[in-house]
Amino acid sequence: GPKSQALAERRAAVVAAGVASGVPVYVEDADGGIIRDVDGNSFIDLGSGIAVTSVGASDPAVVAAVQEAAAHFTHTCFMVTPYEGYVAVAEQLNRLTPGDHAKRTVLFNSGAEAVENAVKVARLATGRDAVVAFDHAYHGRTNLTMALTAKAMPYKTNFGPFAPEVYRMPMSYPFREENPEITGAEAAKRAITMIEKQIGGDQVAAIIIEPIQGEGGFIVPAEGFLPALSAWAKEKGIVFIADEVQSGFCRTGEWFAVDHEGVVPDIITMAKGIAGGLPLSAITGRADLLDAVHPGGLGGTYGGNPVACAAALAAIDTMEQHDLNGRARHIEELALGKLRELAAEVSVVGDVRGRGAMLAIELVQPGSKEPNAELTKAVAAACLQQGVIILTCGTYGNVIRLLPPLVISDELLIDGLEVLAAAIKAHA
Ligand code: PMP
Repeated sequence: GPKSQALAERRAAVVAAGVASGVPVYVEDADGGIIRDVDGNSFIDLGSGIAVTSVGASDPAVVAAVQEAAAHFTHTCFMVTPYEGYVAVAEQLNRLTPGDHAKRTVLFNSGAEAVENAVKVARLATGRDAVVAFDHAYHGRTNLTMALTAKAMPYKTNFGPFAPEVYRMPMSYPFREENPEITGAEAAKRAITMIEKQIGGDQVAAIIIEPIQGEGGFIVPAEGFLPALSAWAKEKGIVFIADEVQSGFCRTGEWFAVDHEGVVPDIITMAKGIAGGLPLSAITGRADLLDAVHPGGLGGTYGGNPVACAAALAAIDTMEQHDLNGRARHIEELALGKLRELAAEVSVVGDVRGRGAMLAIELVQPGSKEPNAELTKAVAAACLQQGVIILTCGTYGNVIRLLPPLVISDELLIDGLEVLAAAIKAHA
């Protein structure tokens, strides 16, 4: 529309080109399923601002909590004059994260910051340097998290030098395994053997892994992979860090994706869905690890901002009151069936996967496993044309991912899925 076009022109003159937007419209309003632009166009939101607005983009409870908190104070700095909201969020995270051991929490602003700090804690607590990450991993855009991230373009190319002592191991990626019979335990053994040969288990401070990989392609490791890795880490005194920045907070139908296999991480990183859209992130982990750090070693000016904390408390309350884990499982039931039907009808859907409301299809050249990034782009563009916002991802740029707000109505979700299916059929 004309208003979005005018804003795009203003933007081009002042905003750096390195920040790219997938959808060329400017937002006026958004809720738990619809994004309305400044020209009055409406879009079905199947992206939630990349897995953030799980409770919706203007959840009344979050909005009220934000207004109330801001009217009291917008900031004091928890490191100067603390306040209750920070403590209350820590209580909630210690309660909701897996495991009944003693835990401690620290709050930050972004997912990347949470990851950086989880690694800081692991290195200090173990006195070791090496950090193990995986193929297809995404952990952020800061220097250490770039090093942990697998994909060069657009995240790493020409942005080095990168942080040292980061080692990359093969992931369990069932659709793309050379041996499709390989079990999760065997895939874990493959990685463990490489760690032992290349680094030595006693040199490793931390293993960091997304229990369902996000940007890398919504890769769900084979059953048994995560439990075997975490058990080996425990045996070797390695801090097992689950990066649940994208998969956490009811997204997969459990509070955390590791819950599906009963894995209890030593440290868990959280952000995105935690606070209904306000910038907040966290690490929660074993008290002995977190309390090993000297006072002043962790923190940041804005970490655990009081308005963001109020938003998180309200968002968590909404998740519990409205059983958003149940909603995520319902979305899985509704959407997976439709996606599988689609896969049976066309030859370009190579794989359908995911849990809860974190679902994906991998598009391929007809009848092969050759990635089809062109088709993926074309399908996302066609959906947008039809008023549906669809995100893509994947190391090969060939994955369409569905991350609807967990509060989306069945009607909107089904409408969105039908548009997606039609777009794929039209282009296949
Ligand atoms: N870890 C994971 C698993 C993520 O998906 C992301 C964001 N896509 C990050 C870390 C980085 O989070 P942020 O963009 O808030 O820094």
